[in-house]
Amino acid sequence: MEVLRSILSCFSSRSRTRARAQSHHGLWSSGASDKNKSMVEQLQRYGVIRSTKVTEVMEAIDRGLFVPPGGTPYHDSPMPIGYNATISAPHMHAACLELLEKNLQPGMRALDVGSGTGYLTACFALMVGPEGRAVGVEHIPELVATSIENIKKSAAAPHLNDGSLSIHVADGREGWPELAPYDAIHVGAAAPQIPEALIEQLKPGGRMVIPVGTVFQELKVVDKKLDGTVGIRDETSVRYVPLTSKESQLHAR
Ligand code: SAH
Repeated sequence: MEVLRSILSCFSSRSRTRARAQSHHGLWSSGASDKNKSMVEQLQRYGVIRSTKVTEVMEAIDRGLFVPPGGTPYHDSPMPIGYNATISAPHMHAACLELLEKNLQPGMRALDVGSGTGYLTACFALMVGPEGRAVGVEHIPELVATSIENIKKSAAAPHLNDGSLSIHVADGREGWPELAPYDAIHVGAAAPQIPEALIEQLKPGGRMVIPVGTVFQELKVVDKKLDGTVGIRDETSVRYVPLTSKESQLHAR
């Protein structure tokens, strides 16, 4: 990933040159989306993104709208978003979208636990469309408020208006039972073990992607089969902030 990171940083400087060239022709506004497109191209080149749908969605949702000012949204690294939280790196968002793609078809229901900036919830909303539901749950109210402002500026804004995208202040370890069961559940923070409520809220045929562990963490793929039995496999080693209580998160050093 170091290689990808350095290639990405090279690439963004190349794309800055191109944005400058375009601004010369009066196309100022194309700069940010150009850099976002370049980031997506790099993720494709490195085989992190393989699906056309994931490509389209990551091109449509400009990551620059979700990273706080002063950050480097198009570099392949996590960024601090305040409250001891981070927005995940682009390759992690891409990998999770790829793993969940079959469970993010139009009309399906998706739950994003620890929705933070709202970036992935916005991607889910575009994938499941107006007939589906994309639900974010985040326990820091200020992050929920900011995420809604971010989404309003993004290509997912219509989904806030038509009610197919919603973000709620709650403890995500309990899921969001009101709209269960879900075809797809993404957890953006590492749980010491998989919360039972989230397994319960997974639809038969549904898939959950969740980082599990404390110091050493594995991204687990949890598949609920049609007969209700659950299969769990390890996808890759990861490093996420903990899925914990609001108090422990805010007082962590
Ligand atoms: N996926 C998001 C944020 C990742 S950081 C993004 O990429 O923008 C993990 C997020 O989980 C943080 O915003 C943190 O506040 C939240 N979180 C941690 N424990 C939680 C809990 N018990 N319930 C809800 N949200 C939680």
